Amino acid sequence: MREPAPIGPKVLAGKSLNILLSHAHLDHTAGLTFLLEILSNHPLEQIQIWGESDKLAAVREHLFHPLIFPAPLDACWNPIDNAAEFVIGETKISWRHQDHPGGSAAYRLEWPNGKRLVYSTDTTGDSSRECVAWSRHADLLMHECYFRNEASDWAQKTGHRWTDRVAEIATLNTPKKLLLTHVNPLEHASDPVQSDLIRERIDAEILIAEDGQEIDF
Ligand SMILES: [Zn+2]
Ligand SMILES: [Zn+2]
Repeated sequence: MREPAPIGPKVLAGKSLNILLSHAHLDHTAGLTFLLEILSNHPLEQIQIWGESDKLAAVREHLFHPLIFPAPLDACWNPIDNAAEFVIGETKISWRHQDHPGGSAAYRLEWPNGKRLVYSTDTTGDSSRECVAWSRHADLLMHECYFRNEASDWAQKTGHRWTDRVAEIATLNTPKKLLLTHVNPLEHASDPVQSDLIRERIDAEILIAEDGQEIDF
């Protein structure tokens, strides 16, 4: 019987890894514990984790508490609280606070060739002129879309957006490509988030995120 291929090289390239943490809720951080297995067959020279200091502290104190997980993660934890902008390699990164229980951060990444990526998840959204000026015209907007319109009440209670609100934000932001992320993993419909309702309103390529996906933009 053939041995299954190790997972490390499939999910990681290069010798270093930078993780931009939106917040510390478990659905965004539990995956950090899986890194240990991946690192065992694909060692890295450096792991850098960026995020607000209270979120980093919560992950280190609770997720990596010996009662919850057996080994600490050997990473460099970088608080971003005092840096509206910072640089990783040639990538310029800025971030904004978002409204969400406990707070979350949206990130904007810009490369020297002018390409721009905005990552925004876990928030009811900010349609202010200031926020739209910060996030608009992205080549790739990675945006949560967990709740269908029928569940908009539940979305607002838990600090999330729903399909029509995503369409509204996307219409204001005019991205070239929109990747709908943070979709419900238990939803197996081919269009779990009514993305056609968003397509009707914006002239952008719209994709629904899948595990292991690589995106050109
Ligand atoms: Zn959350
Ligand atoms: Zn979440």
